[in-house]
This record gives sequence, structure tokens and C-alpha cells, in this order.
Amino acid sequence: MSKEIIIIGGGIIGLCSAYYLQKEGHQITIIDKSDITKGASFVNAGYITPSHIIPLAAPGMINKGIKWMFNPASPFYVKPRLNKDFLQWSWAFKKSSTKTNVEKAIPVIKDINLLSRTLYEELKTVKEFDFHYERKGLLMLYQNEKSGEEEWKTGQRGISEGLNVKLLTKEDVKQYEPNIDLNIKGAIYYDSDAHMTPHEFMRDMMSHLKSKGVIFYTNEEVQDVKYSNQTISQVQTSERILNADEVIISAGSWSPLLTKKLGIKIPVQAGKGYRINVHRNTGIETPAILIEAKVAVTPMNGFTRFAGTMEIGGINHKINPVRVKAIAKAATSYYNNFQIEDSEIKSADCGLRPCSPDGLPYIGRTKSYKNLTIATGHAMMGWSLGPATGKLVSEIVSDKKPSLDLSPFHPDRTF
Ligand SMILES: Cc1cc2nc3c(=O)[nH]c(=O)nc-3n(C[C@H](O)[C@H](O)[C@H](O)COP(=O)(O)OP(=O)(O)OC[C@H]3O[C@@H](n4cnc5c(N)ncnc54)[C@H](O)[C@@H]3O)c2cc1C
Repeated sequence: MSKEIIIIGGGIIGLCSAYYLQKEGHQITIIDKSDITKGASFVNAGYITPSHIIPLAAPGMINKGIKWMFNPASPFYVKPRLNKDFLQWSWAFKKSSTKTNVEKAIPVIKDINLLSRTLYEELKTVKEFDFHYERKGLLMLYQNEKSGEEEWKTGQRGISEGLNVKLLTKEDVKQYEPNIDLNIKGAIYYDSDAHMTPHEFMRDMMSHLKSKGVIFYTNEEVQDVKYSNQTISQVQTSERILNADEVIISAGSWSPLLTKKLGIKIPVQAGKGYRINVHRNTGIETPAILIEAKVAVTPMNGFTRFAGTMEIGGINHKINPVRVKAIAKAATSYYNNFQIEDSEIKSADCGLRPCSPDGLPYIGRTKSYKNLTIATGHAMMGWSLGPATGKLVSEIVSDKKPSLDLSPFHPDRTF
């Protein structure tokens, strides 16, 4: 049966949900408070990440966070605040940072990433889509032996999960980066990963959805949601009131502000990250993570993107020049004879990753409402998990058997 569905938030999660829901024959309206290009989905590193099997909430992260709190250039920063939501989230993060939880999360993260990669590859074959997608794997470049050993442990865990992971010497890395002299000791290479140029996919997806009759209301903020008897009936924006059979909340880091209006608590904190685009030939051919600096380097279509930093500091888009410069400095430190220019640093942008406390997204219905689906909390993997999330959302709404077990993603889970 065709339903009138309102999707709140037109980032990668909202657009992919619209794609699969529309294919099921539903009538879709997407509402976004920006022109859609302001969310995290436009500034990310574009990685498809089966390699990222370890969630952020892992043993040792709290200690690292405390240590890094006093370093203005650190790649991970938690701003201490006397805010109830933040304090509850921090407590839940601490409780989730155990070896047992990490072990439970590993196959879940791997499976949803692999499903999403397959779906991206399927989408790439759709005639009107012309977005950049390449499967070249991911290099984890390291400068000191200790971090190399740590990453290799993760790599070996990946191998036991069926991923193809290799330990490379500095000499071996040359076959992946023939044009560049690297200041590294070695690398761990994940063959599983792919990369994209995010704005191209967003552009193609938006025009495809428009051609299929999906309605977009942009620069309109959802201000209220009307409900009775556990059923949402209307969504009110700054411009209009819309009726709905089903509502999807995919508003990224802003999602808790909307669920609060419905009396539901979805713990999400914004994790700010920055990107610098370099529109010159850098010679970089293979996507890499500079492990010690936690900087992602992606050769996109026509430019190279350097992205990094995780600042848990509330919802704001203030750019901290010290952290942006630290990203540029890291690039010079790993790629010899390469420098990011001041003008490139000045045009840096940022985005907010919607972070759940246990590193798993929320995908599913809450028991409080019959016609509400939550799809958020994807943190560092939201780009990678867009299509898989969209497909799961459409299966939930269409009462179909989900492609994956949804229980680890339950929005009502407690921490
Ligand atoms: C620097 C950086 C690098 C990253 N690299 C990667 C990567 O390589 N791979 C990966 O998988 N992920 C990566 N990520 C994470 C990824 O970008 C995010 O997880 C993902 O974009 C989240 O998508 P989303 O659709 O949930 O949210 P968003 O893209 O933030 O979209 C949410 C939308 O909701 C709208 N909205 C909010 N409130 C309302 C309201 N009340 N009414 C109407 N609209 C509303 C907003 O305007 C926004 O457009 C990175 C993130 C950053 C910042």
C-alpha cells in the first residue's frame, strides 16, 4: 500500500531512505532546514568503510580524550559541559567502552558496511547516476612502530572477520603511491574499502528523486510534530503543515531536538570534523588515514580532500583554526615535499557527525509511536552506511523482512 511519507533531514541518510522508499511505491516529501548542502554529508572524507570495525567507544578512548583535552591541536576533543544530555551521553559512552561491547559491535559494523558497499555498487550501475566511486582500498599509514602494531592487531581482527588486510613495508606502499615520497614506517592496507566524491552522489540522488516526483521543501525547518494515540498525524514547518502516514527522522546531529518534541530520548552528540580541499595535482592516488594524526586523505574527482578532528562540543559550526592547521601540518609531515597553502586552509569547512554513545546507529521504530522510524547516530560511518540504512528504513516502513538483524540498532536500546 502506498503511503505519504515525510522525511525530516535531507543528508545522505534522508536521501537514501527516500530512494528505497520511492522504489517501494510510496509518496515522499523531504524537508530540510538548509538548502541541503550544509550537513555532514557534504564535507566528509567519502570513505566506504568495512575497515572501520572498531567503534569510537572502545577501551582507552576515555583516557585518550582526557589527555587530548589539554592539547588545542589534538584530533579528538571533548568539551566538558554541565548539560544533562551531554553528561548522560558521556556516561553511556564510558559504559559502552568495553572489550565485550567492541567484540559484539565488530561483526555488526562489518556486515552493515559490506551491505552498503554492495548497494553503492548497484547504484553506480543505475543509468542516470554518474557519481565518482572507486574501489582502491584504504592505507593506514603509520610513522611509529607502536601505532603500526596497534593497527595491525585491528587488521588481524579484520582478517578473522573475512576482510582482506595486509601489513606493508614502506617499500610495499610505493605500489599504491608511486608518485609520492612518504615519511612513514609502513602501512596496513584494507582491500575492502572504497571512496567517493560525496557532492556528486548527493547531486545525482537529488535530481533522480526529483525526477521520480519526490517533493523537496528546503530552507524550511520542522518546528513541531502533532500526534495522538501513539500516531504522528502532522508535521509543521516554518512554512506549512503537512499530513503524514509515516515519518522518518534523519536529521543527523539535530535529531534529538526533534525526538524531544515527541518525548523520546535518542542520545546523540555532534562530533565536529573539518575538511580542507586541495584543487591541485597532489599526486596522491590511494585513500589513506594518517594514523597518529587521525587525518583522512581522499583523492576525489578533481581534488584531494584532507579531513579530520572529532570535537564533541555541542551543535555549532565554528571553525577552530588551530585544529584546521593541525590537519594541514599532518599532511606535510606524512607526504614529503607537500604543503597545504594558507588560502586552502582558510577555505576549510566543517560538519557535525551524529554520534551515538556505543558507535552503532539508530535504525528502527521506537515502541512509543506506530508510524515513526528513526535513522541517525551514524557518527564516522554515515556516508558509508547511507544506502544500507535507506534500504533498512524502506523495509521497516513497507513491513518487509529486513536485510539485516535490526536489534543492535534499536532506537530504544539502553546503555
Ligand atoms: C570531516 C568529516 C569526515 C567524515 N568522513 C566520513 C567518511 O569518510 N565515511 C563515512 O562513512 N562517514 C564520514 N563522516 C560522517 C558522515 O559524514 C556523517 O555520518 C553523515 O553525513 C551523517 O548523515 P546524516 O544524513 O545523518 O546527517 P547530515 O548530513 O548532517 O544531514 C542532516 C540534515 O538534517 C537537516 N535538519 C536538521 N534539523 C532539521 C529540522 N528541524 N528540520 C528540517 N531539517 C533539519 C539538516 O539541515 C541536514 O541537512 C565524516 C564526517 C565529517 C564531519
